[in-house]
Amino acid sequence: LVVLDKVDKWFGELHVLQDINLTVHRGEVVVVIGPSGSGKSTLCRAINRLETIDKGTITLDGEPLPQEGKALAKHRAEVGMVFQSFNLFAHKTILENVTLGPIKVRKKSKAEAEARANELLDRVGIGHQASKYPAQLSGGQQQRVAIARALAMDPKVMLFDEPTSALDPEMIKEVLDVMVDLAKQGMTMVVVTHEMGFARTAADRVLFMADGQVVEENTPEQFFTNPTSDRAKDFLGKIL
Ligand code: ATP
Ligand code: MG
Repeated sequence: LVVLDKVDKWFGELHVLQDINLTVHRGEVVVVIGPSGSGKSTLCRAINRLETIDKGTITLDGEPLPQEGKALAKHRAEVGMVFQSFNLFAHKTILENVTLGPIKVRKKSKAEAEARANELLDRVGIGHQASKYPAQLSGGQQQRVAIARALAMDPKVMLFDEPTSALDPEMIKEVLDVMVDLAKQGMTMVVVTHEMGFARTAADRVLFMADGQVVEENTPEQFFTNPTSDRAKDFLGKIL
């Protein structure tokens, strides 16, 4: 579904993505882990074309990423993204946050968008809070709204960039539970996270990145019990 072929990117002198080859199949959950600065966020942002790349190609469903304009807006709608900071619109209600994209980009009617939004908010456990404003919700609740908002666009793939790292410990699980459910329902997902429990239960594949390279790619079982590279061993030694 998502294919990166020989992707390179530089920030000035810094070779932040080095010859990245990655295929994410439909329904697959790929967890990306690695030390700070290894290029994980840049990789996600490149898939959503929030960053340009200097070499190689990225395709979604066989189509190269559009450069600009309407085609790019359509592409972004098909790639749901959830960040560490929830980025909800503070002056809009929860319901408005979730219906805005579908109405503007997907050209849905208000009624249709609201019906779908309510369904998604129920699914992430926020159904009864649709008329509140983001600041009235906890961090974990806001992040679940952010997930519902991304899902409302009917994306082909969901990208998560450290979605729980800004949350208090007691809220992490409620967000991970939503993500595990999504994975079980067959959503294609690329997830940057240090939540090893999530990686073990939900990942089909773990990608370990260091210094802009994919150093190791394996099943979670293999990766956690038997990492092959020294970089991965070292990293796991520090976090587990
Ligand atoms: P973290 O775990 O801290 O989130 P990461 O793996 O997500 O790290 P990236 O954010 O992708 O890493 O950054 C990779 C490298 O690129 C870092 O060295 C970072 O400083 C650099 N970088 C990121 N964005 C830019 C930018 N817009 N301009 C210049 N350098 C950047
Ligand atoms: Mg990052």
